[in-house]
Amino acid sequence: MSDNCIFCRIIEGTIPSKKVYEDDDILSFEDIHPAAPVHVLVVPKKHIESLEAVNPDNVDYVAKAHLAIQKVAKAKQINTGGYRVIVNCGKDGGQTVPHLHYHVLGGTVFTEKII
Ligand code: AMP
Ligand code: ZN
Repeated sequence: MSDNCIFCRIIEGTIPSKKVYEDDDILSFEDIHPAAPVHVLVVPKKHIESLEAVNPDNVDYVAKAHLAIQKVAKAKQINTGGYRVIVNCGKDGGQTVPHLHYHVLGGTVFTEKII
């Protein structure tokens, strides 16, 4: 838990969110500024600043986030058609909220390719 972290506030419930999926370790909620018809954030309940802060002690949250992504995709009915997952890491990666999160994007066909 980090006092001035917006996602920690959402996890503790003091900032509202539109929940999509939750378990003991992961919270998933609608992005407030959707970039696609489906845009859901998958967030570890432990405050991990970014992918760069993943280590052997907290890496289980990464596996749990991946399983949660599948649950979100099914709940949003994009699991069969497919979807895109993005993790921005650090300033140059475009990360604006310093709490590790996965963007799950879908409900459209992504034709634009970065890689
Ligand atoms: P990033 O830029 O990769 O760090 O992603 C942060 C994401 O959090 C952005 O897509 C924002 O729209 C989203 N976001 C910020 N505040 C909230 C909030 N209170 N509820 C839901 N999503 C939020
Ligand atoms: Zn946090």
